[in-house]
Amino acid sequence: MNEFPKGFLWGAATSAHQVEGGNRNDWSEWEKSEVRSRELEARIKDEKFRKSFPAHILNASPSPLDPANYISGAACDHYHRYEEDLDIAKSLGHNAHRFSIEWSRIEPEEGKFDEKEIEHYRKVIAALRARGMEPFVTLWHWTAPIWFQQRGGWLSPRSSYYFTRFVSRIAETFSSDVQFWCTLNEPEVFISYGYIAGIRPPQAKSIWKAAVAFHLLARAHRSAYRALHRVASSYNRPCLVGIAKHNKYFVAADASIKNKFFTALARFFWNEAFMLHIRGYQDYIGLNYYNRNVIDFGWHKPRKGLYNLEISPEGFYESLIAIHKYGKPIYVLENGIDDARDVSRPSFIKEHIEAIMRAKTHGADIRGYFHWSLLDNFEWESGFWPRFGLVEIDYQPKADPPRAGKTLERKIRPSAFEYKKIIEANGLLDFPET
Ligand code: BGC
Ligand code: BGC
Repeated sequence: MNEFPKGFLWGAATSAHQVEGGNRNDWSEWEKSEVRSRELEARIKDEKFRKSFPAHILNASPSPLDPANYISGAACDHYHRYEEDLDIAKSLGHNAHRFSIEWSRIEPEEGKFDEKEIEHYRKVIAALRARGMEPFVTLWHWTAPIWFQQRGGWLSPRSSYYFTRFVSRIAETFSSDVQFWCTLNEPEVFISYGYIAGIRPPQAKSIWKAAVAFHLLARAHRSAYRALHRVASSYNRPCLVGIAKHNKYFVAADASIKNKFFTALARFFWNEAFMLHIRGYQDYIGLNYYNRNVIDFGWHKPRKGLYNLEISPEGFYESLIAIHKYGKPIYVLENGIDDARDVSRPSFIKEHIEAIMRAKTHGADIRGYFHWSLLDNFEWESGFWPRFGLVEIDYQPKADPPRAGKTLERKIRPSAFEYKKIIEANGLLDFPET
């Protein structure tokens, strides 16, 4: 069969801090912090950094050499333009949409919930329902209220209690309209960038802190899982809870014992460890997949670096087959490519959906695909570059005089229409029959 089952979820994903604009949370504070400003100043002056970008990117607006590139600010102003953006998604054939509810909006002060912001997300969910699109709601996509950070963030023994209180409130409000919940986005990415590499807030470089955060995030997930189910069952509503698990396909560069050993280690720590800690607390497996990593510790040849990231639909297939072992339905919650000129994205989408079809024929129970991302957005410490959107955003923060009505203009990229064709056919028409 070339077709996907009826009811397969087709859509794209976003996260609040990356698209909404106007957020005040631990990230927005960090973006404006002195440590960060000094770090950026040095980087922008660095010849090597400048040379890492082609001219068309350096000359674009905002340029990676412009400090404004690194301030989320108004982002895509999706907070005000969500209806327009969901109209675009609908016009592109999407029947589902993944987005996140921003904790710092809902609970800007500890224990005080902002009814106006709850109302905002009620409208977003209603807007999705009105367009016949299934909401897939993320509850934490890396950003948190400032008070939470001040109390130690994910190192606080009370973190799970704080998070669950917020989650319970959201569940009480939305369990009649939402059945798909994603508690945490990519805990392993958050931990490794924020607590080991120290390139994102809270900029720690400590294996010990990483281990504590790991443990407490797993606890928070389990606790949120129970809360979501408790609320849903009290109203007799369907409820499916999981996380967005970032898996990489690690391969050893050669058959040397050293490379094979580190590949096995990487697979365990990156792909498996968190899953073991939340065993029994997932109704589906949410997969975020971007690339395969070739592990090469050889010094017998010019060193290519420890990790060589590569686009690899084959790695996607292997990752899907690997998580099939959990025996749960699979939803791909992110998969995408940084490609401002939309040169590679059309084939990227086609080849990755082909990988899903192959994995399905080999038994993996895949029920949805969310492309990352609907819109170009604030790409964390890299700022507004790179560009992952099916829809291009014209940021022009420095347009002078401002081009009225043109700023933040949405332009649908050709790949979005290629994706639409696949959605309309509910699969790839030229996929070989098995
Ligand atoms: C809302 C704020 C929001 C801001 C985002 C305002 O209209 O009232 O709650 O943070 O827009 O830009
Ligand atoms: C994150 C997104 C991010 C994307 C592209 C994922 O790891 O969940 O927030 O934009 O990667 O880098």
